[in-house]
Amino acid sequence: MADTIELYYESAYTKEFDAVVTGCNPVFDKKGDFFEITLDRTAFFPEQGGQSSDLGQLLFGDDKRAVVSHTAIDKDKVIKHISDCEIAVGEKVHGIIDWEHRFSNMQQHTGEHIFSGIVNSMFGYDNVGFHLSDQEVTMDYNGVLTAENIREIELKVNKAIWENIEVVCEFPDKEALEQIYYRSKKELTGDIRIVTIGDYDCCACCAPHVLRTGEVGILKVIGLQNYKKGVRVNILCGKRALEYICEENKIVGELSNMLTTSKDNILPAFKKNTDEIIKLKSELSAVREKLIEYEISNISPSLKDVFLVKDAGIDQNVMRKTVNALSEKHDGYCGFFSGDVKNGYRFIIASGRNKKSAKDLLTKLKEKCDVKGGGSDLMVQGSFSCENIDDVVKCLKE
Ligand SMILES: [Zn+2]
Repeated sequence: MADTIELYYESAYTKEFDAVVTGCNPVFDKKGDFFEITLDRTAFFPEQGGQSSDLGQLLFGDDKRAVVSHTAIDKDKVIKHISDCEIAVGEKVHGIIDWEHRFSNMQQHTGEHIFSGIVNSMFGYDNVGFHLSDQEVTMDYNGVLTAENIREIELKVNKAIWENIEVVCEFPDKEALEQIYYRSKKELTGDIRIVTIGDYDCCACCAPHVLRTGEVGILKVIGLQNYKKGVRVNILCGKRALEYICEENKIVGELSNMLTTSKDNILPAFKKNTDEIIKLKSELSAVREKLIEYEISNISPSLKDVFLVKDAGIDQNVMRKTVNALSEKHDGYCGFFSGDVKNGYRFIIASGRNKKSAKDLLTKLKEKCDVKGGGSDLMVQGSFSCENIDDVVKCLKE
């Protein structure tokens, strides 16, 4: 099969082109049926180097339209356009790439170059993993960067964007290449395409880039985590960065309304609210404990088995203390259930003064419900779900 002319090397800005179909291979796959179409020339950049492919459409015949949902390149460098319909070999097509998607990829990708170039010159680390999908853009570096380092690099990258420097892509000859220091992820053979962005970066790369750094718009780092022996950095550029910032700004606005405070005051207001909730929870817990103490003091000591049922949120220590207090007064089983139908119930059951086996009662409970838990003859504890807790308690009393 003749090689496909790769129009994106001539210009990354070719949005539409004419071509002839050189192959159409039907594939019947578990995910669905599709056609792998090869062309004599294409502007569709295939998925490679961790970067998602171009999308778009191929127009042909009388108003017919094939949707290209993916572009792949195989080990023999054959570029396959994954199409939803068959197009005959020899047919002329008019290709239209999804420019918004492609331009966004060019923005993210060029932003990555500037970022990695600056990381390399400042810290000597290499970008050892790049991933550009519609969901995220990540770079892995073989050295550790702190949050402070990231802020400094981010500002430098954005300054390089504002300088609106030309992004130069060229294929230097072998002699010229030997004189250039360039970043590369692997040993390269054949013609090597070098992408230079002023003094910020020089890297071997075959993907489409913007013509000038200003088109990247903005680069925002949105994540940093330790990864292997270095770090993984999440970035967004251009419109994707703007959308992210808008979304965060919306959340901040909603928080500001909910807390009835200015945006500047959200953090202290949130901290104040959280402290207040912790204090109130503690007070509520103390009041509940008092109430339970009062309730059990009114239970007649002649009652043998005692089972208390309360809503969710009773502290495990309060449950245990209550069960212990009941066990001193009552001959039979003393149990405490806390929970609700939706979230299930936690329980502690003690053997009471006559030392009936709590494990025997657990066996009975397991016959009725799907119980997680265990314990000794003196005390068992665990959790289960049920539709009607009163039925369960009634069954335990029988
Ligand atoms: Zn590149």
